[in-house]
Amino acid sequence: MPNTQAYAAYNAKDHLKPYAFDRRAVGETDVQIDIEYCGVCHSDIHFAHNDWGMTEYPIVPGHEIIGRIKAVGDKVKNYKVGDLVGVGCMVDSCHTCSSCQKDLEQFCEQGMTMTYGSPDKIMGGVTQGGYSTQIVVDESFVLRVSEKLDTKAVAPLLCAGITTYSPLRNWNIGKGDKVGIIGLGGLGHMGVKFAAAMGAEVVMITTSPEKGADAKRLGAHEVLVSTNEEDMAKHANSFDFLLNTVPVAHDINPYMPLLKIDKTMVLVGATPVDLNSMNLIFGRKHIAGSLIGGIKETQEMLDFCAEHNIVSDVEMINMQDINTAFERVMKADVKYRFVIDMQSLKQA
Ligand code: NAP
Ligand code: ZN
Repeated sequence: MPNTQAYAAYNAKDHLKPYAFDRRAVGETDVQIDIEYCGVCHSDIHFAHNDWGMTEYPIVPGHEIIGRIKAVGDKVKNYKVGDLVGVGCMVDSCHTCSSCQKDLEQFCEQGMTMTYGSPDKIMGGVTQGGYSTQIVVDESFVLRVSEKLDTKAVAPLLCAGITTYSPLRNWNIGKGDKVGIIGLGGLGHMGVKFAAAMGAEVVMITTSPEKGADAKRLGAHEVLVSTNEEDMAKHANSFDFLLNTVPVAHDINPYMPLLKIDKTMVLVGATPVDLNSMNLIFGRKHIAGSLIGGIKETQEMLDFCAEHNIVSDVEMINMQDINTAFERVMKADVKYRFVIDMQSLKQA
């Protein structure tokens, strides 16, 4: 019998279904992790649906993985059996290029190995993600997780957390900055928590007025409904930074006048956008992108969360409920991250 049970997408259209496959044996520098929880990222949906044209089926999504170490290779230095650990969006990189040497493995010049959907250099085929009972990962891509935090609510930090923490740090956001977080979903709710913890004045920019009270509970000082032109005009030329997490193709022109001169909107939503260059030219404004964060920064983010008592707001599901969860995420109906309890898969 294969050593790993999972749920996989078999094609772009049908529901995810049970799947079994073999993970590699534990290598010298590998750890084997018994997966306890895995978050459901919108990227899992993009990938299952082949939105990016790169999916090879069957594919097991999941890159917000939390679990305990079950076995370690002979040369593992930093972990032991029983440790609580996480795995995010990457499981390998070349370790030698200039990006890797700068702790930016996500930009590895040879191409990082994504947790799922990358060529698997050891087993052949493609790597398979965390909607599964166990995973084997080189220790250099494993993160240490504090036992102080609510474990299941830590899982989303491995992607939603680092993807919002990294740009806020890179653009030096802090006290005195007015920051707009666009889209209150998995990434957005972490963006609000981090920006508030870093001391910024945080405005939640949403298409869902009914999420306003939650946004404030999460740390937003103000809520701006992006479809209300009058309110958008009141905030013109006032923002130091915008973090755009919208997961569908959209027009960013209405948001650009919110920025002050020389300020930046960072896109993390992996989707096409419409932009009229006039909205950059007038005000010398910037558009940038950001991709997760390196391993060192991901550990820094997890340590920041332990220090500031930050976790995700999660709704727990069983593995068998994944297709309903996907549908609800696509309708922006999630508060604010689904997390799979992998016990449900182990017992099935
Ligand atoms: P999510 O939980 O579905 O949240 C997205 C939010 O965007 C929704 O809750 C909704 O918030 C808003 N939204 C949805 N449709 C919209 C529309 N048509 N116009 C304006 N706003 C809309 O998604 P997520 O997991 O946070 O992921 C967000 C995106 O980031 C995805 O594309 C994902 O693939 C990408 N991602 C990128 C990275 C990276 O490294 N760059 C990492 C992880 C994920 P409101 O109801 O508040 O409007
Ligand atoms: Zn993700």
